[in-house]
Amino acid sequence: MTENQTVLVTGGNRGIGKAIATEFKNAGYNVAITYRSGDTPKDFFAVKADVTDAASIDAAFKEVETEFGPIGIVIANAGITKDTLLMRMSEDDFTSVIDTNLTGAFRVAQRATKGMLKNKRGRIIFISSVSGLYGNPGQVNYSASKAGLVGMARSITRELGSRNITANVIAPGFIKTDMTDALTDELKKQYTDVIPARRFAEPKEIADVALFLASEGAGYISGAVIPVDGGLGMGH
Ligand code: NDP
Repeated sequence: MTENQTVLVTGGNRGIGKAIATEFKNAGYNVAITYRSGDTPKDFFAVKADVTDAASIDAAFKEVETEFGPIGIVIANAGITKDTLLMRMSEDDFTSVIDTNLTGAFRVAQRATKGMLKNKRGRIIFISSVSGLYGNPGQVNYSASKAGLVGMARSITRELGSRNITANVIAPGFIKTDMTDALTDELKKQYTDVIPARRFAEPKEIADVALFLASEGAGYISGAVIPVDGGLGMGH
């Protein structure tokens, strides 16, 4: 049942976030997205927010709550990469990725649970990565941030599982977005060769899983890591 259910997707202006917002809209949810830069997106109720700033997140939640009422589902999707090998990685390369991907998700989840506790229902979905548990050279910062989301979801599950709030992690492999467009053709080929499915995925393939995790049918799934990676990280 999706009637009157509101979902907020961070970083919903492009890539995986936009595909998730589209999928929920098509399924009949009230959809709000955050965007950080560029023109105001027209397809969804859009609020400007930066996940590195708790006040900006709070203001975004308030705007969405005023428009639609309580937010029952939150997708912490906003993320960045600053890839380089460990020996060359500056402290800022490390901390800025952690601040966006991990602390940013914490800020969003913490703000979201306020309303969820009141409404005695909530679904928190973190967009992690195959890199989180499988590791990837050049992504010490990114992998650490994405692995952290697993501990976060599992601790939230243990804290709030009895309150009808679930927290789950989607771990995408390589998905066709601006983030992977930045890879060289040589790297894309190297990765494709080791993905059992032998291809990168469409963003919609992540969105379909998010839609399921938000559904009534997924009410008994919490603290789970769902890989959507064409078999790349098998068993992670
Ligand atoms: P994109 O680079 O296409 O989009 C990233 C989104 O995050 C943009 O909307 C961006 O906003 C937003 N964002 C970044 N920093 C902030 C911030 N500080 N505050 C608010 N919003 C911010 O990435 P993808 O769609 O590819 O990735 C989405 C998520 O999926 C990320 O968490 C990523 O790590 C993860 N992922 C992606 C994979 C892939 O293969 N593409 C694989 C595994 C995981 P703006 O437009 O302003 O930059």
